[in-house]
Amino acid sequence: MNNQKLLERSLAAVWHPCTQMKAHERHPLIPIARGEGTWLYDYDGRRYLDAVSSWWVNLFGHCNSRINGALRDQLDRLEHIMLAGFTHEPVVALSERLSRLAPKGLGHCFYASDGAAAVEIALKMSFHYWRNTGAADKTGFLCLANGYHGETLGALSVTDVALFKDTYAPLLRRNDTVPTPDGRLAEPGESPPAFAERCAAALEARLERDHRQLAALILEPLVQGAGGMAMYHPRYLELARRLCDRYGIHLIADEIAVGFGRTGTMFACEQAAIRPDLLCLSKGISGGYLPLSAVLATDAIYAAFYGDDVARGFLHSHSYTGNPLACRAALAVLDIFEEDDVLAVNRRKAAYLNESCEPLAHHPRVRNFRNTGMIWAFEVDSDHPEFSRHFAAQAAQRELLLRPMGKTVYFMPPYSISEAELELLARRTLETLEAC
Ligand SMILES: *Cc1c(COP(=O)(O)O)cnc(C)c1O
Repeated sequence: MNNQKLLERSLAAVWHPCTQMKAHERHPLIPIARGEGTWLYDYDGRRYLDAVSSWWVNLFGHCNSRINGALRDQLDRLEHIMLAGFTHEPVVALSERLSRLAPKGLGHCFYASDGAAAVEIALKMSFHYWRNTGAADKTGFLCLANGYHGETLGALSVTDVALFKDTYAPLLRRNDTVPTPDGRLAEPGESPPAFAERCAAALEARLERDHRQLAALILEPLVQGAGGMAMYHPRYLELARRLCDRYGIHLIADEIAVGFGRTGTMFACEQAAIRPDLLCLSKGISGGYLPLSAVLATDAIYAAFYGDDVARGFLHSHSYTGNPLACRAALAVLDIFEEDDVLAVNRRKAAYLNESCEPLAHHPRVRNFRNTGMIWAFEVDSDHPEFSRHFAAQAAQRELLLRPMGKTVYFMPPYSISEAELELLARRTLETLEAC
């Protein structure tokens, strides 16, 4: 097999996601033959540093021996059993551990396979909770401007990214957005907490008016990922929690991208010392190995579904809910967090990359260089009509896998990245910028 042969077959048979397929006439696909640690290798012997963790899912490198070992062991025991009417040790152990790690009081784990499905579940649970507790008018959802929660119809209805949403608008239920606390939008001289407070005041005005019809506020804590890595101050989360309590609506924290250490703490909500009513997790949960997502719910929500009436229960299901292999991968991921003191090591790695990025951060064409935990982003001044594709192609020539969103370049590397690789990432990104 070589690159050219495989990419021709792929274009003939595979409809690729998030892609105008015709663009591949000019920008070839990259066929990947194998992965090892932070590196991916194509069929022609070239390598690429996976600086975006394969769409933010990979935490501990490709073909990680510890996760591989756990999966091999599980393969010889049980590959899958439906989770309705049955249970198994991996799903029980994972639920116990997630509840122990998450903000206190989220003791009930519901599973699905993808992030968008977790969002659907959280929205349905919130709506159904209000119905079960005699508040059937509470059917609306509030979301933040520029938020992203996935692309199935329900999740897309609380997403605010025009490129993904506008085409399907006629199919979507209308939900309201409130201003984003994105730190880049603060007035000159306005401190980050003061800006967060101003945005929370706008949220309060909306809640005051509409809370009787609202079921929940959904948001991405600390970093709005697919909307362009917008970072914001934890003060906003603190105030949003308080306002949701005051006006009687649920707070749904979508930590699908930011959970599992991405923002520097295990979960981003910890930085505001808040507990959401529903916590959505996916992406890094299985270390980038298998599709798995979870929604963690409070006792109060769980209790509202518990009773003799079947329809009062939460009847949602997916065929692969709680898949044992995916749960074993997730357990291996949590073992690595513990055994390697990952969060502490990441703090040192983040400081190292920030230092290595000094020349990049101060480059005359770079704006808003920013960092939260293991996420970095900046905007590039460029009038190239296809900046993101052009930048990605130039980066690939320098052994970097980068996928800018519009003019926003970001790094979201696997936590297993070494200092030498971080230094290479910073240096080659600067070279790429200079070539673009
Ligand atoms: C990726 C993402 C989703 C959707 O997850 P999928 O697995 O792609 O369906 C939802 N919310 C956030 C914040 C995400 O980053």
